[in-house]
Amino acid sequence: VDPKLYAAKQHLYKYQQALERILQEITGKPADSVSVFEPGVSYVAGWHAVGMLAISVWGLEAFHATEFERHPQWESAATETFRFLSEHCATCGAKMPELRARIVCEPCRERLDAAELNRILTGTVARQTLAYVADVRGDLEAES
Ligand SMILES: [Zn+2]
Repeated sequence: VDPKLYAAKQHLYKYQQALERILQEITGKPADSVSVFEPGVSYVAGWHAVGMLAISVWGLEAFHATEFERHPQWESAATETFRFLSEHCATCGAKMPELRARIVCEPCRERLDAAELNRILTGTVARQTLAYVADVRGDLEAES
C-alpha cells in the first residue's frame, strides 16, 4: 500500500468515525457506511462515503433540531470533513492548494479517463464540497 494513500485514508477514517458517532447519538441507530479501510474500497469510494455521511448529518439537522442542539459538535465535524475534502484530491488524497475548488489534483486529472473524472466532478459530494468552498470564499471576501 502506498504510504501517502494510507495516511490520507487514515484522515478520512477519522472523519468517518466522528460523523458516524454523531449520527448514532442523534438517531439512536448505528450508521452503517462502508469503512474506508475495508479491502477493495478505493480511496475515491471512501471519499464519497465520508462526504455522504457529512451531507446526511447536515440534512438531518432540520428534522432533529433538539437532538442536534444536545450534540453541538455535529457542526464542526461536518465542516471539518468538508474542509478536508476541499483541500485534498478525491482520488489520491494529495494535499491541494487551499480553496482552489479543484476536487481532483492535476496529476490525477491527467491519469483518469474522461468519464471517471466527470463522474467524480459532477457527483453529490463534489458539488457539496464546491458549495462549501464558495461559502468560505464568500465569508472571506465579506471580511476583507
Ligand atoms: Zn490526485
